[in-house]
Amino acid sequence: MIDAPYEALAAAWNQLKPVVLAARGVNRELLLSRISARFDIPRAVLLADIGEHVPEQPQAQTPSYADMLTQGASTAEEKIELLTRVRGELEARLSLLEQGQAIPALPVPSAPTPVRPTTTTLPPFGFDAPKSLDEIFSEGPSSVGYHSTSDFLECPERARLKALRVRRKPKLGESPHLNALQFGSVVHALLAMRAVYGQASVEAMLVSRYTLPPDVAPPLDLWEDDRIKILNMMRMYDYTFPLDREPFQYLGVEVPIFTDVGEPGRPCIKSAKYDGLVRTFDAQGAPLVFSLEKKTAARGGASAMNVYLPQAAVQAAIWNCNKALVEQYGYMSGIIFDVIVKSTVPVCERHAPRYISKLEMQRAIEYLRISDQIQFPVNADGTHYRAIHACWGKFQPCAFIGICWGASYGEYEQADE
Ligand code: SF4
Repeated sequence: MIDAPYEALAAAWNQLKPVVLAARGVNRELLLSRISARFDIPRAVLLADIGEHVPEQPQAQTPSYADMLTQGASTAEEKIELLTRVRGELEARLSLLEQGQAIPALPVPSAPTPVRPTTTTLPPFGFDAPKSLDEIFSEGPSSVGYHSTSDFLECPERARLKALRVRRKPKLGESPHLNALQFGSVVHALLAMRAVYGQASVEAMLVSRYTLPPDVAPPLDLWEDDRIKILNMMRMYDYTFPLDREPFQYLGVEVPIFTDVGEPGRPCIKSAKYDGLVRTFDAQGAPLVFSLEKKTAARGGASAMNVYLPQAAVQAAIWNCNKALVEQYGYMSGIIFDVIVKSTVPVCERHAPRYISKLEMQRAIEYLRISDQIQFPVNADGTHYRAIHACWGKFQPCAFIGICWGASYGEYEQADE
């Protein structure tokens, strides 16, 4: 019954082939993956059809585009109707292509997009202990917050590749040491564990010396040098800021907060993820909420934190624009930075609270609204332009150097594969 639309899709694929052939490296790969997933044509068939015979990697079973698209259809007729609509979408794109215009990204299946509600109350205090390093690394920052906006403005192509979870393939014999980003992610996860389950749980995840509650994870599979380094850092943090002597009450760890920061009548839901949310009280007993931001850094000193002030302003703005949270827990006054300096003997610093002014928050809100207003041109193969001023970064080179170019075939993989 549904042969006809499939034939139409095959014909459309024939016409899309020149676009795929024009794309190189990672872009060709991604284009092929998307077409294969969305039109339910095995990737091997597409590869063979364009004259490439790359061995297929075993892949997790994911629903095909056709499956997703026809999810709501109960009869063959309804399926045909839905698939015919896809054909229409493809043809519209092809005619743009024929006129030499850039084609927009292929459509997302027409499943209803859930509207993200804003946060009205904090989740119960807790933290799901990660079961493996991969689980820790897969926890990215919020996709609608400060980092995603900054990433997009710095280099739109990097933001796209990150969202697609593209990463460099490890080379044969490459050191298994954690890179700076991974190192920071592990320490963040352990600090969250410590706040909820205590220092013993951290030691257990690093050296397995204590019995863990049954729902807490097994020791992390770390390279020995990294394990010792992180253990020393975590112990030094615990000596410096014993949990039972903290001058504040923890409200949450690793908490994402969603808030509408839009103008009246123009909703703009943005989010921030807080390493720690803490509360203290002033002399009159009024609550003072702070974001407790944990950083691992190569050097200490308050000036090293200046670069994070926009992030601090965004965190305060997102909390304080959320009337429900302010009424329930109090106004966010600012940010406290806890820094663990990665020296041979680790040093832990806590910087005096940095209060955030209304003007700083106002600028932060303007900044957050930018991402909904700025668009960069998209190339014919779906890529964005590469902002090469950003390749060497503020602190370290971009992770995509050498793999965001077309000639990089075979240098990358997608994290889900
Ligand atoms: S290497 Fe440079 S151009 Fe390529 S994604 Fe990274 S920042 Fe963008």
